[in-house]
Amino acid sequence: MTQRNTNRRELLKAAGLGAAAASILGSASVGRSAQPSRVKKSKLHGMKFDVLVVGGGPAGIGAALGAAGAGAKTMLIENHAFFGGVASWCLGMPINQMRPESKARSKVHELVINELTALGDQAVRIGQHQLWCNVEYLKVAVLNALDKVGCKYLVHTHAVDTVVKNNRVTGVVVATKQGMATIEAGAVVDCTGDGDIAFFAGAETMKEFGKLSPQTLCLSLTNVTSSQLRKVNMRQLAVKARTKYPLIPKGWGLRKVANSDNFYINHAGTRDIGQFDATDPFQRSAAECTSRRQIVQMAQAMREFGGDELNDIELTGAGAQMGVRETRRVKGLYVLTEKDAVDGRTFRDVIAWRSGYLDIGFVRFSKMKVHDVPYRAILPEKLDGLLMAGRCISATHVAASAGKSMGNCVATGHAAGLAAAMSVSKGILPREIKVARLQDALRADGVDLKRGGKVQKGVSAAG
Ligand SMILES: Cc1cc2nc3c(=O)[nH]c(=O)nc-3n(C[C@H](O)[C@H](O)[C@H](O)COP(=O)(O)OP(=O)(O)OC[C@H]3O[C@@H](n4cnc5c(N)ncnc54)[C@H](O)[C@@H]3O)c2cc1C
Repeated sequence: MTQRNTNRRELLKAAGLGAAAASILGSASVGRSAQPSRVKKSKLHGMKFDVLVVGGGPAGIGAALGAAGAGAKTMLIENHAFFGGVASWCLGMPINQMRPESKARSKVHELVINELTALGDQAVRIGQHQLWCNVEYLKVAVLNALDKVGCKYLVHTHAVDTVVKNNRVTGVVVATKQGMATIEAGAVVDCTGDGDIAFFAGAETMKEFGKLSPQTLCLSLTNVTSSQLRKVNMRQLAVKARTKYPLIPKGWGLRKVANSDNFYINHAGTRDIGQFDATDPFQRSAAECTSRRQIVQMAQAMREFGGDELNDIELTGAGAQMGVRETRRVKGLYVLTEKDAVDGRTFRDVIAWRSGYLDIGFVRFSKMKVHDVPYRAILPEKLDGLLMAGRCISATHVAASAGKSMGNCVATGHAAGLAAAMSVSKGILPREIKVARLQDALRADGVDLKRGGKVQKGVSAAG
């Protein structure tokens, strides 16, 4: 299903933000309110940056480090209280494809890894393709990396609309504790995962309800050892426990958090409960609330049905929100396909590559080759002034799953951030930059643009 947000006034009205946004923006895209506004303006209102990155997950971190590292006056805004996105609220799962085959991927990837290792042994365990992090250290490592490149950042800043002039995104409307504000920018990078910015600005987005990958609220646990866990068959436990605890998945595994003795679980989440569209407020609430009940049932099931090995296991935490694998993807000038991923397709306008597995979380897991991402897949088809990175780039439902490893999202973010910085410094639109110059800049940042087409060595389910 393709969506087009043509009537933004209606949408804002439905969200109770119509008059608010209109009076603050004063822009033709939203319209003017005849009434004086009682909506408070945040002191952020009217601030201007070269590059505005919205969303501080893996893609946003890559974009912010890429743009600020290239000298652009960059602002990164994030809805939550910390950066990392899914990497932070999934409590220790591997950040895959950060150093595939133990080779540095880019200056940006290495900056994050270096800031993590600088925090000591508890912060990270580095595998052949992935990082196993303690997320509290990860959150600080990201702050330190942003500081190193002089990137400005704000948390608790939620993007709720855009300013579009002559088909170009020139600003983003945010909600803060002081009220609303428009932040202006020479170029905006949509790293919201959900393509929020593109959607608010009226770009075409793609989302197939009925096929959406499941959402998962990850949990962390203590009072158990690896040797105890080896004696438990979690599938059999789940079969027995499901009568009493109907929300639990059909089995799951526990993995260690970085170098600690604590464990986390990434699991099938909502897969067996129903389809939820995480961009629909009602469905998202239903998924979040059901997931909270689900993880408590999982802990209870393990204690009650796990025999002597698990009767002391204790739930110590859950993610700040459920992890969302898939929602809108923004239609770009090129739409990546499953065939591109399986064949290891290369493109002349390559700006990043994606490695690992084609992985529709707990639904399908199959092999693919390293394949290129063309610049056309991070540019919206029609809208100007905007780039996208991470899980909302232009790809089919299956192809989106081929790029979801976080190292790949950092890579598309890095490229989008550099492209945004380049377009602003040259005073042109992102779609007008010379891709060869962007490729030169990426190579200068340590990106090998010739990895597409290769079969990745030693990649496993964990990597
Ligand atoms: C349960 C689960 C398990 C996974 N397991 C793995 C794994 O083991 N290894 C791996 O490498 N990958 C894994 N993935 C995939 C990977 O985590 C994602 O593909 C990746 O995080 C996507 O990065 P992103 O930056 O595009 O989006 P996200 O990580 O979703 O980050 C988006 C960020 O934008 C912010 N944001 C959203 N909307 C707004 C807004 N309107 N205003 C301001 N901020 C906003 C969000 O708060 C968030 O911080 C998993 C994903 C899930 C959900």
